[in-house]
Amino acid sequence: MNKNSFKAIVAAIVISLTTNAMAQQKDFNYVVDRFADIEVLRYKVPDFENLSLNQKLLVYNLTEAALAGRDILWDQNGKFNLAIRDLIENIYKNYKGDRNDPQFLALEKYLKQIWFANGIYHHYSMDKFTPEFSKDFLKRQINLLPADKKPADKETQETLVEVITNPYFVKKKVNQAEGEDLILTSATNLYDGVTQREVEEFYSALKDTTDTHPVMYGLNRRVTKDPSGKVIEQVYRLGGLYSPAIEKIISHLEEALKYAENPQQAKVISELIKYYKTGDLRDFDTYSISWVGDTDSRVDFINGFIESYDDPLGMTANFESIVNFKNLEASHRTETLSDSASWFEAHSPVDPRFRKDEVKGVTAKVITAAILAGDAYPATPIGINLPNSNWIRAEHGSKSVTIENITQAYDEASHGNGFNDEFIPDAATRELIDNYLFITDNLHTDLHECLGHASGRLLPGVDPDALKAYGSTLEEARADLFALYYLADPKMIELGLISDPDAYKAQYYKYLLNGLMTQLMRIEPGKNVEEAHMRNRKLISEWVLEKGASNGVLSLSKVNGKTTLTVNDYPAVRELFGQLLGEIQRIKSEGDYEAGKNLVETYGVKVDPQLHNEILERYSHLSIAPYKGFVNPVYTLVVDNAGNPVDVTVAYDEGYIDQMFRYSDKYSTLPR
Ligand code: ZN
Repeated sequence: MNKNSFKAIVAAIVISLTTNAMAQQKDFNYVVDRFADIEVLRYKVPDFENLSLNQKLLVYNLTEAALAGRDILWDQNGKFNLAIRDLIENIYKNYKGDRNDPQFLALEKYLKQIWFANGIYHHYSMDKFTPEFSKDFLKRQINLLPADKKPADKETQETLVEVITNPYFVKKKVNQAEGEDLILTSATNLYDGVTQREVEEFYSALKDTTDTHPVMYGLNRRVTKDPSGKVIEQVYRLGGLYSPAIEKIISHLEEALKYAENPQQAKVISELIKYYKTGDLRDFDTYSISWVGDTDSRVDFINGFIESYDDPLGMTANFESIVNFKNLEASHRTETLSDSASWFEAHSPVDPRFRKDEVKGVTAKVITAAILAGDAYPATPIGINLPNSNWIRAEHGSKSVTIENITQAYDEASHGNGFNDEFIPDAATRELIDNYLFITDNLHTDLHECLGHASGRLLPGVDPDALKAYGSTLEEARADLFALYYLADPKMIELGLISDPDAYKAQYYKYLLNGLMTQLMRIEPGKNVEEAHMRNRKLISEWVLEKGASNGVLSLSKVNGKTTLTVNDYPAVRELFGQLLGEIQRIKSEGDYEAGKNLVETYGVKVDPQLHNEILERYSHLSIAPYKGFVNPVYTLVVDNAGNPVDVTVAYDEGYIDQMFRYSDKYSTLPR
C-alpha cells in the first residue's frame, strides 16, 4: 500500500467529468469538512445496491469487523491517545459556554485534528499537535466536567494536561533521526520500557537466518519487559494484548463467514479468525497465502496488522481494514491489457535483445471501497499491493488493486480549486484535461502496473541490483515511460480503452507540468528531490524538455511573468518518451550503473530555487488543503418482522463530527 500515491493525489490536478456526472455531482456534496491542513471528503459506493443479499450481508459484517478495531490503532499510536480522546470528547459534549468562543473553537479544531490522526500526532509529519486553547481553559473545563466524565484521578488529570499542552513532552510519534535511540525517542506505543539496542538484540537472537520462509517478526506484538526485567513480547491476540477488541473482531468475522461466496473465501475468513485467536505469525502466513489465492470472489477485504511504516524499526504493523468489492467494468480494462501483454512487449521501442520472449501481465483489479478503517481512515491509500511477506510474494504472488471510487472522489472534489486556471493558461489544453485526464490517469496506472513493471529482461549474468540506489527511480521511470508511450498508441483505440485519439495529450501535458513544475510544491525550500517516484517524473520531464526544446517540440517560458509549459508537437513528445524508454531499458538490461547514475543525477534531483519559489508562491494563493481524508458511508441492516436480515442500505448523509462521535460511542472496544 502506498501513501505516496495518496500524496500525489493531494497535489493532483483536475478531473474529467462527463456532463452526466457533472449533473449528479450537484446532488452529492464531496467536501464534508475543512480545518487546519485537512479537507475531509466523502466517497460513493457505486453498485452496492446491485450486490446480492448474501454479498451485502458479507460486506456489512466485514465493515463491523473493520470498525471494531478502531481503538487498537489509537492505542498503538500513543499510550495517552484513548484517554485524551475521551477527555476532549467529554469536554466538547458537556460544554455549557459560548460555542463561538475562540477557546472553545480551538478545542473543536484540536478534537478534529486528533480524530483525523487517530491520536495526538499528525498522521503525516508525526509531530504532536499544538493546541490553540490555553492550559488554563483546559483545566477549567476538566473541573466543570461531571464526576463520571473526569479522568480517574488527579494525577492522571495532570499527566493528560501536560501531554496535551507541553510541546516537549512525548513530542514525536516516530523519530527517524540517525544516531538517536529511535525507540526511546518515539512516542508510539509499539514498544514499552525498552531501548532500541534491547529490541535489536532480542530479535537477532530470535531470528533464524537460514529459514527460507521466515515469519514477519514482531508484526503483531509489543516488546516490553516482565517484572524481572527480561525482554518479552506481548502478542495482539485473543487472551493477549487488545483482547477485548479482537474478541469483537472475531465475532463479526464469524458472522461474515456465514455469507462467504465460495469455499476459498470461507477458508480465508476461517484462517484469519484462527490467527486472531493464536496470534501465531505462521497462521498469518497461512492466511495470507489463501488470501492471495482468493481471486474469484466479488467481495474482498483486508483486516489485521498490515503496514509497519509507524514502527521506527519497521517491524510492528498498525491495525487496518478495507472492505471492498470488484468494479467489474473497470477491471475489464486491466484484463484487456493483461490479455494483450505479448503484443505490447513485441512492439515496445526497445532493442529486441532486451524484450521478453513471452510476457504474462500481472493481474490487477479495480475495486470499490465499502469501508475504510484503522490506519486507512480517514486518510487512505489509493492502491493496495499485498501481502508484504517477500517469500509469499515470490512463491504465491500478490494482489494489486486500484481503489477507483476513492480516486474518483479526489478528482471530483478538486474540480474548481483554481489549479488549472493558475497553471494551464491555454483554454484548449484545459478542456482536454477536463475531458480526458481522469480516464488517462487510470489507464496510465493500469499500463504502469500491469505491463510496465512486467516488461523487459536482463541480459544473462546481469545482477538485478546492479543499479543500486538508482534502481528504484529508474524502475519507476521505465514503467511510467512504457505507460506514456502506449497511451498514444492506436492500439488503445483498437482495444476500446480510449475513444478519442487526442485523449493522451491530456495525460502528456499534466505529466510534464507535474514533473517540471507543480510537484515542487511538496518540496521544502532549499531541498532537492529525494523520493523515487518524484525523481522519476522529474527525470523524464527534464530529459524530454532538453531534447525537445531545441527543435520547438515543447518549451518552458514566461507568460505574463509566470513560468508556463507549452507543448507544440505531441507526436514528437511521444517519440522522445520512446527513445528514453529504449535507453533506460538498455541501462537496466545491461546493468549500466554509471549511465543510470548520470541520468538520475543530471535530470532527476536538482531543484532550480527560483522556479521552486515561484511555484510555492503561486500555490499559496490557491486554497488546496495539503492533506485529505474521508468519512465512511453509513450501512444499515434491514430486518423483517421475524428478525431475519432482508437488506443492507447505504447512506451518505453523515458529517465528520457525527461520524466520529458515533464511532467513539459504538466501537469503544478497549478498557481505559
Ligand atoms: Zn511502479
